[in-house]
Amino acid sequence: MAFTFFNTMGRSYQPFKPLQEGKAGFYGCGPTVYNYAHIGNLRAYVLHDILVRSLRRAGIEVNHVMNITDVGHLSGDNDEGADKMVKSAEERGKSVLEIADFYTKAFFNDTDRMNITRPTVVCKATDHIADMIALIERIEKNGFTYFAGGNLYFDITRFPSYGELAMLRLDDLKAGARETSLHYARTGQDENKRNPHDFVLWFTKSKFENQALVWDSPWGRGYPGWHIECSAMSMKYLGENFDIHAGGIDHIPIHHTNEIAQSEAATGKKPWVNFWLHNEFLVLDKEKMSKSGEGFITLQSLIDKGYDPLDYRYFLLGGHYRSQLQFSWEAMQGAKNARKSLIDKVHALFEKIPDKKFSQEDITHRTSGTRHKDAEEEGKPSETSSAPLRLCERLLGFDDAIENDLNTPRALAELWGLLRDNSLEPHMALAAVFDMDRVLGLGLEACVNSEKNAEDGEFTAEIEALIAKRTEAKKAKDFTAADNIRQNLKEMGITLEDGPSGTTWRR
Ligand code: AMP
Ligand code: ZN
Repeated sequence: MAFTFFNTMGRSYQPFKPLQEGKAGFYGCGPTVYNYAHIGNLRAYVLHDILVRSLRRAGIEVNHVMNITDVGHLSGDNDEGADKMVKSAEERGKSVLEIADFYTKAFFNDTDRMNITRPTVVCKATDHIADMIALIERIEKNGFTYFAGGNLYFDITRFPSYGELAMLRLDDLKAGARETSLHYARTGQDENKRNPHDFVLWFTKSKFENQALVWDSPWGRGYPGWHIECSAMSMKYLGENFDIHAGGIDHIPIHHTNEIAQSEAATGKKPWVNFWLHNEFLVLDKEKMSKSGEGFITLQSLIDKGYDPLDYRYFLLGGHYRSQLQFSWEAMQGAKNARKSLIDKVHALFEKIPDKKFSQEDITHRTSGTRHKDAEEEGKPSETSSAPLRLCERLLGFDDAIENDLNTPRALAELWGLLRDNSLEPHMALAAVFDMDRVLGLGLEACVNSEKNAEDGEFTAEIEALIAKRTEAKKAKDFTAADNIRQNLKEMGITLEDGPSGTTWRR
């Protein structure tokens, strides 16, 4: 498969070529664990999941790294306000570590329920302070920092491409600086900054009392700025250059802009990251959903209203990740109904398979290069095209949707098209559905497997009952009846073995 992604860096569609063939390094900004994730945050993690699943389905080995922010993230992304973790701990009468632990578990409980694949590496900021200090030392050694008012700052004027990701112009930033310093003086914001876009690498002078977590550093006892954790941890696990970095669009102007500046300032290499993918917001009444605002909806609150977490996943897949998505209860109900029909269709297909046998191999030759070759050789789809060719076209359409910037609404339409085509061979169609679901993650195979297992369970009970009857018959010296039962079971593919501790059976 040949992927094309919309790269925020440069704002264009670009063909994806991993730095190392067959492998991809991916870093997705993780949660700040001071509260539950809201359903808007979960949109970001569904994008990460679709990306990882798509690459893996295409045979690319993905190293997916996610951070857990448990220190340094202030209420304003731009070093303003109180530390979100400390504030939450104070409000709840717990320690910062207790809060972090509680909400980290809650986060993964949510993502597991939404069938979001766990990252290969999950790394906590507080476990990587030494890595952050080492990186800040490199940035300092390369001359990009200044120390003022007890904190170490990154000087953006030393980094000419600052703001490239967000398309900010350095000239404008410099001109804005004079005005903003007056504004700072008036509003009491951080006057130590030479430019309002400079950012803290290491705080020693806490802006608020009782900063709970502090560490020794070359700049004094304190704690890291928020952005440095992502630079330090991504490079630790993925190397100094890696393939893809993702997050919500709110991260473009500050967090990711600052991550790039400090990473490239430390290594001297550019570009640090090849592809930047950003998801648009989930909005409620046109307002971005946020952890501190009104209308904070969690996954649990959807469940409490009778929705399955996968209904919400289905709802999200119905919008392209780069378009704003409006949440409403009507739309949620629509997603719930659609997913129910989807499952019914899958069950109906399963019922049509006489021996209940289907396997990935049924379509394997079509999921490889031959799939593309077949279609090319056989020409364009026509009214008279054969069922296997139509199945092949559906899979091609699905691949095309996913390859082209992860277009899940179009991919879902291909899945529906396949399910509505009654002329396809059920075992082939089902195998294709499951192949598509390797990306969509709607748990379709699991629903059929649970039915299959239930049937297997019934089957086992039936066998056990017949064996018990045969034992009774033997006890009663009715050998004809006992032999008949053995024969019946044989016809069902079951072989009996009589041993000293009773009768055992195997298929
Ligand atoms: P946070 O835990 O606040 O650091 O956010 C976690 C992720 O959710 C980040 O990638 C944010 O950009 C993203 N995010 C925050 N609010 C929304 C929203 N309303 N819709 C979609 N993504 C969001
Ligand atoms: Zn980050």
